[in-house]
Amino acid sequence: MVGRKVDLIIVGQGIAGSWLADELLSRGKEILVINYETKNTSSLKAAGLFNPITGKKMTKTWLADQVFPVLENRYQKLERTLNKKFLNPIPIYRPFNTAGEKNEWSTKVEETGYLNFVEKLVSQPIGYQHIQDELGGIILKRSGYVDLKSFLSSFRDYLIDKGVYKSEMFDYKALEFVSEKIKYKDIEAEKVIFCEGPNLDNPFFKELPFKLVRGEVMDIECGLAEDHIINRGVFMIPKNGYHTIGSTYDHKNLSFEPQPEGISNIKRRLSKLFTGPYRIKEKRAGIRPATFDRKPFIGLHHEIKTLGIFNGFGTKGVSLTPFFASNFVDFLEGKAKIETEADVQRVY
Ligand SMILES: Cc1cc2nc3c(=O)[nH]c(=O)nc-3n(C[C@H](O)[C@H](O)[C@H](O)COP(=O)(O)OP(=O)(O)OC[C@H]3O[C@@H](n4cnc5c(N)ncnc54)[C@H](O)[C@@H]3O)c2cc1C
Repeated sequence: MVGRKVDLIIVGQGIAGSWLADELLSRGKEILVINYETKNTSSLKAAGLFNPITGKKMTKTWLADQVFPVLENRYQKLERTLNKKFLNPIPIYRPFNTAGEKNEWSTKVEETGYLNFVEKLVSQPIGYQHIQDELGGIILKRSGYVDLKSFLSSFRDYLIDKGVYKSEMFDYKALEFVSEKIKYKDIEAEKVIFCEGPNLDNPFFKELPFKLVRGEVMDIECGLAEDHIINRGVFMIPKNGYHTIGSTYDHKNLSFEPQPEGISNIKRRLSKLFTGPYRIKEKRAGIRPATFDRKPFIGLHHEIKTLGIFNGFGTKGVSLTPFFASNFVDFLEGKAKIETEADVQRVY
């Protein structure tokens, strides 16, 4: 017996499932989101940072020119729909490591590719107490953080109000394939899209080369002024009275609990940037759904075209998911190809 018909079932309501659901709803699709609620959801552990220029060498992040305009636009639009604030644009201050780095940036900043993301270079310390910035640094724009707890809970309430949310663990064994459609219990759907983050139990996508990475962050009270995210070796994100500091990367120990070595690692790196006293408020750890080539897995199953995946956003869920939700739905509607490097077909 079919009790309900929808266009798509989305499994998982982390940041990936949420953006996919929002994109589909905005295009008038009938959906149902099935989500298992757990404190281990990766998006609830994340620091929420979005940063256009990353890494030791400070290069523009993958697809920054396309991804960042969509990010700002979509989070602001959703804030208006939900009447909630979760997008916090804050410039990043990145103190220089060496005089060589400072020189390099004085010419690099003129390159057109960087103009969109660099506010200015400063050649003197900018006046933060206890911050080690003798050489000055670079100030980046179009960066900030998303309050993911507020984002996920207000979006879940929105889905509940629409009657399109079910809190349960998806049961793969209850899936039936009936004449080019899917039946899941009493629900009929055109497709099921899995947005399960680091849960790798899915029997339909178990061959995908995920490369999960555990990470720790800690929240500290340190009395530092809150005008910038400060980033060198670690990031310090000001969040109204406290700072989130992170993070670590561990492929071996995939525990959801913060480990003493991980926390000492953050403290050691923090001490090179910030030399003042602080109090640790909270420590947490989570697993990033990263992949072998650091690019997401997006698309349909290579044989069963009624199943799809929207996962593998690794360290960059906040910035990549709004852009790729739109790209994926364009693909589902036959209007576009999935960005080649993110297309799951690359691994089959
Ligand atoms: C310590 C740490 C810091 C991070 N910091 C940042 C950061 O600053 N910026 C950034 O962009 N990213 C950051 N990340 C990465 C970010 O967390 C991920 O990219 C993002 O959260 C992935 O979202 P997701 O929706 O794919 O997965 P998740 O958030 O894990 O969501 C998956 C959801 O699906 C549910 N689910 C899974 N399987 C099933 C099933 N079978 N049935 C029903 N429900 C199911 C889960 O319970 C969960 O609710 C960080 C990660 C960690 C661990």
